Amino acid sequence: MRSPGIPDRLPLLQKARKKGIPIWSELELASRLICPRRLIAVTGTNGKTTTTTLVGKLFQAVDRSTQVAGNIGTPLSQIVRRVRKNSTLVLEVSSYQLENIERFHPTISVILNITPDHLEHHGTMRAYAAMKARIFENQTASETCVLNADDSRCRALARRCPGRVLFFSRRKKLKQGIYYKGRGTSGARGEGLVVIHWRNRHARFPLRWDLPGPHNVENALAAIGVAVAGGLSIPVIRSVLKRFQGVEHRLEVVRRLRGVRYINDSKATNVDSTRVALEAFQEPLVLIMGGRGKGAPYTGLRDLVKRHVRRLLLVGEDAGRIQKDLGHAVPSKRVGTLQRAVAQAAREAVPGDVVLLSPACASFDQYSNYEERGRHFKRLVLKLR
Ligand code: ADP
Repeated sequence: MRSPGIPDRLPLLQKARKKGIPIWSELELASRLICPRRLIAVTGTNGKTTTTTLVGKLFQAVDRSTQVAGNIGTPLSQIVRRVRKNSTLVLEVSSYQLENIERFHPTISVILNITPDHLEHHGTMRAYAAMKARIFENQTASETCVLNADDSRCRALARRCPGRVLFFSRRKKLKQGIYYKGRGTSGARGEGLVVIHWRNRHARFPLRWDLPGPHNVENALAAIGVAVAGGLSIPVIRSVLKRFQGVEHRLEVVRRLRGVRYINDSKATNVDSTRVALEAFQEPLVLIMGGRGKGAPYTGLRDLVKRHVRRLLLVGEDAGRIQKDLGHAVPSKRVGTLQRAVAQAAREAVPGDVVLLSPACASFDQYSNYEERGRHFKRLVLKLR
């Protein structure tokens, strides 16, 4: 059994493979020990935890024995005994775990999006997308895969899917699938309609939803897709969406102080998540970025930074590289640590601003993980007077 952090190219693993010794992920092993009624598996580059949590809440509303596990926190192997025969199991699955599956077989699978990440491990985008596609490879023709119609890589995978493809879209009308009819084009703050045309189900309802940003509308649509494929009723779906408050460290509101909102988005560990964070706010931003980079350029953020950010404060190992890529788009300063960044941000922010920690980098240069970084940020912010 290979732990996700262990590179597949390890000579020991290659030797085993040559000898025909199976190499499994923990997911493969644990899923062989259970037999739930519904196994829902969610993958994607970004939005997995938010969507998995929401899908869990949707099914918990009708079945209290629903379990949520996987990459989200509790490994599946830890809860195999709690997964009952008639229950629903919702799993967050990473591309690393999919690398070593054989028979892993969700009844409903989801691929939220496929954008550059973990390329240091997978090598190419093609290899990374192929790994994500393994989530549906064992599905049968009557099972469902929920795919993002707005993502060209997801669309390309649809042809290879052996089950039914349920597309969702935030941007365009679909004849079959689930789409969002928003006021304006961004769909921010969920003020539009959700429209469902899926096999013999047709419905539309206003999306009442607290989570900021168009990306969160996509997470909602994907979760609604799973719920519809799983047969949940529209009133249940609507009431769970209305109550859902999101997940810690993902655009989490920490505090409002002297008219300035402080937001913790420590989970934004790649460039794409910071992009969606920037798109989620209309207010001027004091943005804190930096940490351990993952090799992707930051230049793709230039226009958004120019449009939304007033001041850029840089911390951690990759500060120099970020400054090189974005420094001429906006006034920037290398401050080294979060402690100094928060103090500086508090001095510079004016009422109406948002101070946003959205690093676009991993945390491992200064913290053990993004949670520790997020908690440190929150402590610093809560200490401000
Ligand atoms: P994951 O578990 O895949 O890392 P999370 O739900 O934890 O995803 O969200 C992590 C970050 O990714 C968020 O802080 C946000 O910036 C970004 N994000 C969330 N959902 C999406 C999405 N659908 N598309 C793009 N980025 C997203």
